[in-house]
Amino acid sequence: MAKGEKCSFCGRGENEVRLLMPGRDGCICDECAEQAYLLSEEYLHKKRKKNSKWSISREELPKPEEIKSFLDQYVIGQDDAKRYLAVSVYNHYKRIMQNATDDADDVEIEKSNIIMVGPTGTGKTLLAKTIARLLKVPFTIVDATVLTEAGYVGEDIESILTRLLQVADYDVEAAERGIVFIDEIDKIARKSDNPSITRDVSGEGVQQGLLKLLEGSIVNVPPQGGRKHPEQKMIPVNTKNILYICGGAFDGIERKIAMRLNAHVVGFNGGGSNNRINRDNLLQYIAPQDLKSYGLIPEIIGRLPILIYLNPLDRDALRRILVEPKNSIIKQYVKLFEMDGVKLTFDDDMLDYVVDKAIEFKLGARGLRSIVETVMMDAMYETPSSAKKKLNITRSYAEKKLEKAKLLAV
Ligand code: ADP
Repeated sequence: MAKGEKCSFCGRGENEVRLLMPGRDGCICDECAEQAYLLSEEYLHKKRKKNSKWSISREELPKPEEIKSFLDQYVIGQDDAKRYLAVSVYNHYKRIMQNATDDADDVEIEKSNIIMVGPTGTGKTLLAKTIARLLKVPFTIVDATVLTEAGYVGEDIESILTRLLQVADYDVEAAERGIVFIDEIDKIARKSDNPSITRDVSGEGVQQGLLKLLEGSIVNVPPQGGRKHPEQKMIPVNTKNILYICGGAFDGIERKIAMRLNAHVVGFNGGGSNNRINRDNLLQYIAPQDLKSYGLIPEIIGRLPILIYLNPLDRDALRRILVEPKNSIIKQYVKLFEMDGVKLTFDDDMLDYVVDKAIEFKLGARGLRSIVETVMMDAMYETPSSAKKKLNITRSYAEKKLEKAKLLAV
């Protein structure tokens, strides 16, 4: 290197830097080289992010009201749950964006995981699934009942993150800001409120394991899941920004709520402060301590600060579920027949009848589909081969078909 050479970037001479490296038409000093490396890393990182299908810009960020109106298209009722969910998801996005800008002066936004409590078949999974459609973050649903403590038969807790990684096409950064819906969280409640010295494989141990994920830590995740591939290399995943939404029916929790409210499920005496309690829907008074009485450990409850309840579905809600959602059961059948060139219609009292039967069979919203399916089976079999261009389903037709099915079942 010729004497008196200077760094072509900062202009400093050989004596002013630790190292001056010659290039074809100039030199670069160690400090400028380091800066260039950092800048190029940052640039490439941004580029990767921009091209990722999980990237989201500020303009694309759906506002809580937009999230709610999207949910309204698919889920009937459950307004409170929708509002809470919309706000939580919106905040989740904001937190992700804050992390992306890496503003050190900013107040760090902590995540708020969610727990949804409500009778089975009232829309908990549907809400989670519907939100997932809107999202631009990896999303997965797992069933808590398959989880067991490490070393026992069943799936390890880490398998939850394996699924998230798979959904994210192993884009670890995307998975690290994903959303996980853990269904049937009530099934891992410990069997009694008193911590017991005997092992409770499916209860407290699993909750302790889950805590590790909820708390925000680096978890080593087997990329293929399970123990079938012992040779696989673990992928470290930081769970700090993963949003968890838990759901559970918590059968019988009304009793715990009633006990706390110092009242009995059957027959409030109507005196004192109990006056205003609506005993038909005790779930609306649910509080974190009820989850504890039910058998969730306090550490888990503390990590699920947003407690949402879902309303039981009444006759009116069931009737709306049949026809109103964007992909309602009735709309789906109309579409199926339309593909054969047949215009399908339903009498109003036929729809009322389906709702009555769903209530009678105690099947809730889940029953609506199976009842309509039973009623429509013969028509779906015969109509494609007939010359019919129109089909109207009356109440007496539905009654006949259901009765026939019942006779066959005997
Ligand atoms: P769970 O609360 O047990 O998770 P799901 O969300 O799985 O219940 O509901 C079961 C089915 O019932 C859904 O796939 C959907 O067809 C219907 N359903 C339940 N609740 C609603 C609702 N609020 N609005 C529209 N459909 C609903």
